[in-house]
Amino acid sequence: MVKSDKEIKKWFKSEASKSPKKYYATSVLEERGFERKKCKHCGIFFWTVNAEQDHCGDASCAGGFTLFENNPCTKPMSYIETWKEFAKMFSKKGYAVVPRYPVVARWNPTMDFTIASIAAFQPYVVSGEVEPPAKQLVIPQFCLRFGDVNNVGVTMSHMTGFVMIGQHMFMPPEEWDQNRAFADIVDWLTEGLGLPYEEITFHEDAWAGGGNFGPCMEYFSRGVELGNQVYMMFEQDDNAKNGFKGLSLKVLDMGMGHERNAWFSQGKGTIYDATFPTVIAKLKERTGVVSDEETMERYIPYAAFLNLDEIEDIDDAWKRVAKTVGIPAAELRKKIGPMSALYSIAEHARSLLFALADGGLPGNVGGGYNLRVIFRRAQSFIERFGWDIDMADVAAWHAEYLKPLFPELLASIGDVKKVLAVEKRKHEENRKRASQTIANLLKKGVPDTETLIRLYDEQGIAPEQVKSEAKKLDIKVTVPDNFYSLVAERHEQAEVKTQTRRAAKLPLDDVPKTTILYYDAWDYVDFEAPIAKVLDGNLVVLERTAFYPTSGGQEHDEGELDGVKVVDVFKQDGVIVHKLAKKVDWKPGTMVHGKIDIDRRQQLAQHHTTAHIINGAARRVLGNHVWQAGAAKTLEKGRLDITHYDTLTADELHRIEEEANRIVQQNIPVKKVVEPKSLAEAEYGFRLYQGGAVPGKEIRVVSIPGFDTEACGGTHLNTTGEAGLIRILRSTKVQDGVIRIEYVAGDAARKLVEEKKGALEELMGHLSVKEAALIPAAAERVFATWKQARKLAKKGEEIDWNALENAELEPYKGRDPIAEAAKRLSTQPEYILNTLAKFEKEIARMKK
Ligand SMILES: [Zn+2]
Ligand SMILES: [Zn+2]
Repeated sequence: MVKSDKEIKKWFKSEASKSPKKYYATSVLEERGFERKKCKHCGIFFWTVNAEQDHCGDASCAGGFTLFENNPCTKPMSYIETWKEFAKMFSKKGYAVVPRYPVVARWNPTMDFTIASIAAFQPYVVSGEVEPPAKQLVIPQFCLRFGDVNNVGVTMSHMTGFVMIGQHMFMPPEEWDQNRAFADIVDWLTEGLGLPYEEITFHEDAWAGGGNFGPCMEYFSRGVELGNQVYMMFEQDDNAKNGFKGLSLKVLDMGMGHERNAWFSQGKGTIYDATFPTVIAKLKERTGVVSDEETMERYIPYAAFLNLDEIEDIDDAWKRVAKTVGIPAAELRKKIGPMSALYSIAEHARSLLFALADGGLPGNVGGGYNLRVIFRRAQSFIERFGWDIDMADVAAWHAEYLKPLFPELLASIGDVKKVLAVEKRKHEENRKRASQTIANLLKKGVPDTETLIRLYDEQGIAPEQVKSEAKKLDIKVTVPDNFYSLVAERHEQAEVKTQTRRAAKLPLDDVPKTTILYYDAWDYVDFEAPIAKVLDGNLVVLERTAFYPTSGGQEHDEGELDGVKVVDVFKQDGVIVHKLAKKVDWKPGTMVHGKIDIDRRQQLAQHHTTAHIINGAARRVLGNHVWQAGAAKTLEKGRLDITHYDTLTADELHRIEEEANRIVQQNIPVKKVVEPKSLAEAEYGFRLYQGGAVPGKEIRVVSIPGFDTEACGGTHLNTTGEAGLIRILRSTKVQDGVIRIEYVAGDAARKLVEEKKGALEELMGHLSVKEAALIPAAAERVFATWKQARKLAKKGEEIDWNALENAELEPYKGRDPIAEAAKRLSTQPEYILNTLAKFEKEIARMKK
């Protein structure tokens, strides 16, 4: 029977405490003079060198934090130094020092943002599917967690963004050395932070997650938890003795807060002062806020009691803290308020800097939603105090300070500033508009969930704002707890439409995965293959096939198998199924001849390779924040959804089209390789995952060298030149932060250009002008003639037809004379001729 993680943790903790020698590095502790004891308050087993210590050292058992009274660290370190010292020490011990992974977790299908150092290696490294970058490594991993956003700036120790220093090992059982892993981290505490043994307490504990579990050792000093070393060693297994067995890959997961270590080592101020001192100094200077040092010093040790997670009544908590500090609650809040706001602004700007530099965008769904929340929280402080602070400046100050650790932040600051400027504009527009919209809405009654979702999706009005405006009018609006998942679900549904969906699974377990023949050349369209299985007389599975099944937003191929029409192709768990137009009596083992409709295949390949080309071109023109957000390729056209913070101007669209056609003209070979995931990631980075995370040990990489590289299974051209010509049809905003670009390539583009050319010639002929550039003015002249003549006729005055009809024409300098002419006639391009004919008929009538 499978137990829940919580049950496993409880059971294993008691199991491990019965034989600590087996599960913890007790010999290392004993060598160094530590003794095992049981906490008299909470009953946990702990290790200390202090003969008289009878509690486990946790804040609640030790009676609070005592970090500020003669700080036990003998080596105060700045934030930057803390990581440099750690990396130096562990590099000497044989650990690889690995650069941080992006905080936007593109490789991980289970999370939007990286939430822990081990998350960089989940799920595929930890599961053993993908090789780790090194068997033992340390990493300064920036993480985002938004659960405590309301505590930031209040408790003086909470953050939404932080660096988790990771110490990790990925070892087969025979190389696993828990004693060494533990001794190494003890060295950090004593030699790195300079803590004497008397100041450190270790806790025996257990960890469980996703069916895996193991022991862990937490370490405390002065009531502060400094870190936790987890040993992922076992998995549940009903067939094994005791119900569990050892993992074939043992994983060390030590994570500790970089900020907390730096703060602890400095032993004063808030975690924010310790972590970004230059930014706090600049903010104080800019706003003229002076911190009341005396009150702050008395407040900080008790600020932790204001943790919203742990208290029921926030007013009551303030009263209690105020009493300890020795000033009335209202006065304390007033005194702390401005600094609390400055700390929040600084903290949120730092989280936004990392997220945006790594390609995240504020929005209304998924991870983007939380980025918007922290931006608006910071902005609301700026507005409340009337400060002259720009979040983009604050982000730039952080990038400057962090340059020795993360130089990539400064390199992206231009893009980050642009995104923040647009976000600020949206925020201001939204604030003005929202209250009016909500007032109108409430007049109509209490909005239901559906209305709230629509309001949020279409206008970016948060349900919380509706709720609070409604409260003023004594109207109760209910917002479901899962509101944002409901919104997210809706967007997910929109994306899967292009997949061929089957109601029931076909019985294909006895058939091996189909060997794919469409990976290499798009024009390999004639092949022989043995039949593996036939279902219902018309569903045929072959041992290998060149037929492309609907997937990755690309439509399936059509063609024939032994002369019988193939009308659909789809994939189920790696098995490709061909649906025939009629039933056949074919037997497994016999050979069939497959022939694919090459025109359709070519057009689909052109549209797919063009999606990659436009993606790369958009990145060049708009910036590095551009990611694919969705795509579909049909015979008629392709569409690519990209992440971008604003709508596209005509000029931007034109530049993207130009850049795309430049790549076509360069006729670059399109490289298609199936390779181990770890290799591909090392070579190309996580930009690979444009279409989302990809499972499996190996992935197919499609690259236009020097321009664009993506993990992709589609059919692609052999060179970019084979796309022929690319024309962008239009761009539209799909949702906040996502822009759809529709385009055609190859024959479809040529047809469009010819149609356009035909239309131009037709209009030039109709308007009797020799240049296309004169079309808009000539069209406008017809309209003006009609208007003027009608006016004169009404007044009964004489009409000078010659002057009106031969008025000088100003050539149009823009790119699309037809669109311009349509604009000037207030009509659609396809109705220009009709509209002109209407005016001309009227003019002819008046002349008579
Ligand atoms: Zn205790
Ligand atoms: Zn693709």
